Amino acid sequence: MTVETAQTVTDRLGRPLRDLRLSVIDTCNFRCPYCMPESEYPEHHDFLPASERLSFDDMIRLVQAFESLGVRKLRITGGEPLLRKHLPELIGRLRRETAIEDLALTTNGLLLKRFAQPLKAAGLDRITLSLDSLDPAIFQRMTGGRGSLEQVLEGLDAAVAAGFDAIKINVMVQRGVNDAGVLQMVEHFRHTPHVLRFIEYMDVGTENHWQAAQVVPARELLDRIAARWPLQAVEEHYRGEVAKRYQFEDGAGEIGFITSISAPFCGDCTRARISTDGRLFTCLFAQQGKDLRPWLRQTDAAALRQAIAQLWQQRGDRYSELRERLPERLPGKKIEMYQIGG
Ligand code: SAM
Ligand code: SF4
Ligand code: SF4
Repeated sequence: MTVETAQTVTDRLGRPLRDLRLSVIDTCNFRCPYCMPESEYPEHHDFLPASERLSFDDMIRLVQAFESLGVRKLRITGGEPLLRKHLPELIGRLRRETAIEDLALTTNGLLLKRFAQPLKAAGLDRITLSLDSLDPAIFQRMTGGRGSLEQVLEGLDAAVAAGFDAIKINVMVQRGVNDAGVLQMVEHFRHTPHVLRFIEYMDVGTENHWQAAQVVPARELLDRIAARWPLQAVEEHYRGEVAKRYQFEDGAGEIGFITSISAPFCGDCTRARISTDGRLFTCLFAQQGKDLRPWLRQTDAAALRQAIAQLWQQRGDRYSELRERLPERLPGKKIEMYQIGG
């Protein structure tokens, strides 16, 4: 399906389907306590067996179906996507067999040194690196003792050397854990093309035992940073842009804030997510996804497209806008972040 013939599908709140996040694996080489705490996910936890993961053929068919409904942006995520075998091969196929205009990947960077160049050669457009602290002890704590800060920074250098420029760096901020290091991070990345994006700690899933008191509202961080390096707001690039962007008045670059808790942006949420086992989730905080594998087993592309369109048309999600009115503990479990990516 070409861009010209794509059909636009909107949900119950009039939001079009524009972006897709595809989780290629549910395992991870880190155990960030806010996402996959070691206590719940020990070394031999039963993640999905490889046979339950979508195949590359399935993923291509899915992306083609989403594309025919207006999706132009695709982010590959996980778990840790670089653990998925032959990932550059998938990227190459997505480049050749779909018309996705913006193909991005989110990674913790541990294996980036090895994969940056093959991913670039395969046609990946952009990399987002998750990096919560430049203090080795805090970095260790926030990766559940699994990460190596040095290796991640080498991965970032390798990505630059491979030709990825203006890399977005996601910093998940948790009060009392890494918030004191925010200025250090800003100082480190000012005067580089990279863009730090501070993410408010979210109540995704159930296993991280989220507490509102650990959220540092973006406004507080903004004030702290601007007191040291004056900032100016930057106009939105496009409708649905997630990060609120600011540039340093002295020309030293740009930073962003993802304010899912303090200023939700559900009204502009045009994003669908696919779990590693092929379920479609229409919200990061959903309790259930719709298994698309029955349609993937058929060869009828129109039926798959129709199924996705119908699910999107039924969508009324706006969890973050309703958060304060919801009971503190919902009956049942929400999907975990590592199963559908960020
Ligand atoms: N493993 C890869 C990584 O860490 O970049 C990709 C998947 S990870 C689930 C994607 C993003 O979700 C990361 O930037 C991570 O910091 C963020 N994340 C995970 N749990 C979160 C939470 N509870 N609140 C806010 N962000 C979270
Ligand atoms: Fe792994 Fe990413 Fe979750 Fe950390 S945030 S445990 S790196 S999936
Ligand atoms: Fe989108 Fe759900 Fe997040 Fe709202 S809460 S922005 S609907 S993913």
